[in-house]
Amino acid sequence: MKRSPLAGLGRRTAALASALALVGLAGTAAAQDAPPALDDAAFRSCLAQLQGSAAFRNIDRATFAQHTQNLAPDPSVLVLLDKQPEFTLPVWDYIAVLVDNERVADGRAAYAKWQDTLRRIEQQSGVAPNIVMGVWGVESNFGQILGGRPLVQSLATLSCFGRRQSYFRGEFAATLRILQEGHIPAEKLVGSWAGAFGQTQFMPSTFFRSAVDFDGDGRRDIVDSVPDALASTAKFLQNAGYRRGEPWGFEVRLPPGMDTSDASRKNKRPIDAWRSAGVTLVDGSPLPDSLPSAGLLIPARSRGGGPAFLVGRNFDTLYSYNASENYALAIAQLSNLVASPGGSVAFVTPWPTDDPGLSRAQNRELQTLLLARGHDIGTADGLIGAKTREAIKAEQQRLGFKPDGRAGQKLLAALR
Ligand code: CA
Repeated sequence: MKRSPLAGLGRRTAALASALALVGLAGTAAAQDAPPALDDAAFRSCLAQLQGSAAFRNIDRATFAQHTQNLAPDPSVLVLLDKQPEFTLPVWDYIAVLVDNERVADGRAAYAKWQDTLRRIEQQSGVAPNIVMGVWGVESNFGQILGGRPLVQSLATLSCFGRRQSYFRGEFAATLRILQEGHIPAEKLVGSWAGAFGQTQFMPSTFFRSAVDFDGDGRRDIVDSVPDALASTAKFLQNAGYRRGEPWGFEVRLPPGMDTSDASRKNKRPIDAWRSAGVTLVDGSPLPDSLPSAGLLIPARSRGGGPAFLVGRNFDTLYSYNASENYALAIAQLSNLVASPGGSVAFVTPWPTDDPGLSRAQNRELQTLLLARGHDIGTADGLIGAKTREAIKAEQQRLGFKPDGRAGQKLLAALR
């Protein structure tokens, strides 16, 4: 990420920070960042003031009291709120972790299990089953990683201390409304530090725009009901302008010497214009008619080129889920792989690097090697956090590599 997690906070940007943490791509709070001491009297007084404010007018007194009377603030969320990214990871590192063989295998198993539900969701929403699968896999590893922080505590803290209080107050009010309406019980309402929760990692306000009761029990339960969660993902994409029957896009081959200086996802041109410019599918075959217009996305152009893609309106709906083109591309690539046998996690055109990123299995192997060398990094969980980065830097120094803390293939090979 090029910016701080909450800079220019949009609807989903807070959730993005959380999704990054869930997949182990964001720096987790370093041990040296001590949480601030929070004044309990100030917290109680803030809660009382919130209760009387306009944002909370639809929350019953009983509901508010039930969920806040014994609540203590959680200072650790404020550390994460102000945490700056340690450095900007290259796109190939993101993709390597988010689209690895493990996730593809998990996705194929989940797709086989839920394909009837996904077909019914497609009939209603127009969103293709594999696209829903791609989002589900990147957001929560198909429901396996949901985050564990109580939403009420995190969002009450963020509503009363730190930056962006007005934003988080709206999310806190929406959280109490979810509880008041009985969609999800409080003990299940856990998620990221910033309040993204459930299999779709929605923010609470997103819940009220996009969550769907698809299994018909009267509750919109995106935590424990897979049909509700998958239909809610589709509803989100539908609300964002998803077009039935269109692909997200495809990897393409550019003619030699083509001027790509104005390449952009947003700079869309009719597909005929790309044909006239000499662009083909990556295997050299003509561009299909399934996408009426598209923008040219070259994620690593500033780092030397690499794979190029023509992306359409449906790619933009994936972008709106996480406000990150790299994330949208991970969802897109995962969606291509989960619903069809075969296929490689790598794009046809290689990334412009001689030191590619690591899969989660390779991250675990790297951590095991670091543990064997005596580095105190906890367990080999595949998540590259602050401790692992420090250990990587120490080994890079010993080996004469640039000590940047990055986990890559060259370091893994050197430690084997
Ligand atoms: Ca339901």
